[in-house]
Amino acid sequence: MRSFTTLDLQYAHRFYGFQGEAQYLHGHTGILTIEVEDTINEGVNMVFPCNEIKKTAWEVLQNFDHALILREDDPLLPAILKVYEEQGIKDGAPSNKQKGPAFKTELATAYPECRLVVTKETMTVEGMIRIVYELLKDKLNIAKLTFTSGVNGATVEYNPPCREQPRCPLCGIALVDGVCPKCGYRKS
Ligand SMILES: [Zn+2]
Ligand SMILES: [Zn+2]
Repeated sequence: MRSFTTLDLQYAHRFYGFQGEAQYLHGHTGILTIEVEDTINEGVNMVFPCNEIKKTAWEVLQNFDHALILREDDPLLPAILKVYEEQGIKDGAPSNKQKGPAFKTELATAYPECRLVVTKETMTVEGMIRIVYELLKDKLNIAKLTFTSGVNGATVEYNPPCREQPRCPLCGIALVDGVCPKCGYRKS
């Protein structure tokens, strides 16, 4: 069975070099739906607690929220960094608190201090799904990802790994070395 949750991300981007209005800087509310597949965890009667899916995903994906997402070869990138630098906010600001850990994958690099994500390819809805899968595939048994942004949408189904994740029979979250990080339950 599957458990799923959604989260939304407010971001600005553009399609550099694309022939259309999207080549101009603009913003979206993107909605990501993450479906996780596993057996029912007896005891809590869940596949996985949806708030835990959200927490795990948000930890890293908050880097995309209230962020600017630009392709690595976009000339706006050095121009914006110059402005941030002159304004003294490039390396952070006291009000910039909601930050995820910096990450770097094949497809994207996050700079949480200045709320910027630099991507290898144009950040389309399809591109976002590829980035998200790369970031979360080892943390969640992802069966499907759907991302919508304005009138655009993309969806992909995966064959989740056949590892049955050992989960806490009291809270439903994944055990770490046989121990629940939330309630301390220990698998005998
Ligand atoms: Zn757009
Ligand atoms: Zn627990």
